[in-house]
Amino acid sequence: MIRQYELVEKVRAYDPDVDEDVLNRAYIFSMKMHGTQKRASGDPYFLHPLEVAGILTRYRLDAQTIATALLHDTVEDTLTTVEEIERVFGPDIGRLVDGVTKLSRIELQSDQTKQAENFRKLLLAMSADIRVLLVKLADRLHNMRTIGYIASAEKRQRIARETMEIYAPLAERIGMRQIQEELEDLAFAQLNPEARASIVTRLQFLRDRGGSLVTRIVDQIKRVLAEDGMDIWVSGREKSPYSIWRKMQRKNVGFEQLSDIMAFRVVVGTVPDCYRALGVLHGRYPLVPGRFKDYISTPKPNGYRSLHTGVIGPEQQRIEIQIRTGDMHDVAEFGVAAHWSYKDGRPSAGEGGSYRWLRELLELLENASDPQEFLEHTKLELFQDQVFCFTPKGALISLPRGATIVDFAYAVHSEVGDRCVGGKVNGRMMPLRTQLANGDQVDVITSKAQTPSPLWERFVATGKARARIRRFIRSQQRSQFAALGRSMLQKAFQAEGYEFADKAVENVLRGFKCQSAEDLYALIGEGQVGERQVLGAIFPGSRPPAPPRRGEKPAGGKPASSQPGIPIKGLIPGMAVHYAECCHPLPGDRIVGIVVPGRGAVIHTIDCDALSELGEQPDRWIDVAWDAASDPPSQMVGRIHLVVANETGSLGALTTVIAKNEGNISNLKIVNRTPQFWEMTIDVEVRNLKHLTNVIAALRATPSINAVERVRG
Ligand code: MN
Repeated sequence: MIRQYELVEKVRAYDPDVDEDVLNRAYIFSMKMHGTQKRASGDPYFLHPLEVAGILTRYRLDAQTIATALLHDTVEDTLTTVEEIERVFGPDIGRLVDGVTKLSRIELQSDQTKQAENFRKLLLAMSADIRVLLVKLADRLHNMRTIGYIASAEKRQRIARETMEIYAPLAERIGMRQIQEELEDLAFAQLNPEARASIVTRLQFLRDRGGSLVTRIVDQIKRVLAEDGMDIWVSGREKSPYSIWRKMQRKNVGFEQLSDIMAFRVVVGTVPDCYRALGVLHGRYPLVPGRFKDYISTPKPNGYRSLHTGVIGPEQQRIEIQIRTGDMHDVAEFGVAAHWSYKDGRPSAGEGGSYRWLRELLELLENASDPQEFLEHTKLELFQDQVFCFTPKGALISLPRGATIVDFAYAVHSEVGDRCVGGKVNGRMMPLRTQLANGDQVDVITSKAQTPSPLWERFVATGKARARIRRFIRSQQRSQFAALGRSMLQKAFQAEGYEFADKAVENVLRGFKCQSAEDLYALIGEGQVGERQVLGAIFPGSRPPAPPRRGEKPAGGKPASSQPGIPIKGLIPGMAVHYAECCHPLPGDRIVGIVVPGRGAVIHTIDCDALSELGEQPDRWIDVAWDAASDPPSQMVGRIHLVVANETGSLGALTTVIAKNEGNISNLKIVNRTPQFWEMTIDVEVRNLKHLTNVIAALRATPSINAVERVRG
């Protein structure tokens, strides 16, 4: 067990100005909090955080990180809270301990290593301060070192698999090679003890036979390079059983053919020295083709730089040699922690403090030129824009940042999305628009009565959710339009004295390129096909169908519907009368007649825009007025422009209000659609201006209708 003063001494060795007080207080606090708790080994629990702190001193980490390591299990496993840690140790350590605690909680939630890649991203994304991740890795390392004490074989397997699939790759990604290799080897011993044992035995056999082979090769490499006047440092080692195993699998070769179970490092002064040493070694030893790699000109994504080569070494063994400078060596050994240097006894974190590591890591990634590496880098950047959340069963769902409960529900399943009414986020009931954060556990509440709402479209962040909502609303609108179209067609039948039947419509579907009567009704309802066209197709002799409405643009003064016998005073007797379609004059409007040769009089409202073109031909104007004494015309058409909220039921409300006010929609045309609104014009059959005014007033009083205007010109 490391004693309190030993820990402080270890930190002071690399940071003379260390804040000893904070280390001492964290030591005492953690020891008191963990009290009599025991580890599976029977040791006092406090030994664990202490060992974790000890591991991190090897990486020369600052006092805050070491204190965090001492405190890392207090929130999760004792009665203390993040607030208390913050109060006692300040906001920085509070934040770090909180970060480690959150990672630990997530670890407990998910045992699905299938999602290892997502999980690694989650851990990285949550470790905004990379020191959180370093503490977590050291924590995992110590737990792996003591995994043998866990009684349950199943639990040991789970932890080992998680270590292999998540933590070792994470350590690799941030360049912590030593931690990576140790984690891998400890996990390997759990996951495949037989394979590991046979490799260890074989290594022992080679060692026995070859004597101190590694030492002899190191000596010879040193001598060869010294002869060339180079000041170098050489180390050699056997590769770890797991890395040998992986190579055996990857290359599909047996242990006998495996060349480089020994790796040697040559550390030189400068980058040119690296290439010079390479030249010397290649000149002296036969090189193994295909083994040379230049990670100096093209660093690995985690910042690793070195020259690698394979040669038949001085003892006629195939060996791997890595050549690098001292700086490169630090990065290779310590990863991101190598950038945390103590100049003048102060961490030279520069502005942005501890975030410098992460930034530098990203910069290193940015400089990667290999497409594969670039891809990895892109992924890393991408998931800064992602959040990762859990289902109650622990499945991990990855979503874009800003995603809501509705997005989550759709990501789980389309049906779940369609029917969601709310959700519990970390056990608390929250509204659907709630934006999710990393690590949230989301329990979606559904109801069979629920359907997607157009309102959701305003806050969802995923394409999947948006597409489903739109599709649903479109299909719903379509059924509303179909109902409208059917009733319009029904009226047209009645007007001509025919009995309406859906069967009759089915006979003419092909002529309108429709699959079903429903399709055709929807087209009528949307104003794309006139009901009289359909009627004309069903009963060819009945009456000439009205021209198609779509694209029809009533030009100024152009005569349209002819309705002789309409009570208008001031006309020349026998003159045909037409109502202008630009302004749709109604009894009650002030009107004027325009003589159109060969057609008769066209009636406009006095304020119709079309009249301005006719101002220079005063002889064509006739002074006319409605004849109040005569019978009111049965059917006049008023055109109105509406802005209707794009939501369920708004079209239904529109038709209901018009029907209640004894109006009758004879035509409807969507002018513009947005996610929020529809803009449309509708023609309403009314008796007179007053009637139309009533209809408009009623529409204005309808909540889902935002604006109503009579169309003039
Ligand atoms: Mn722990």
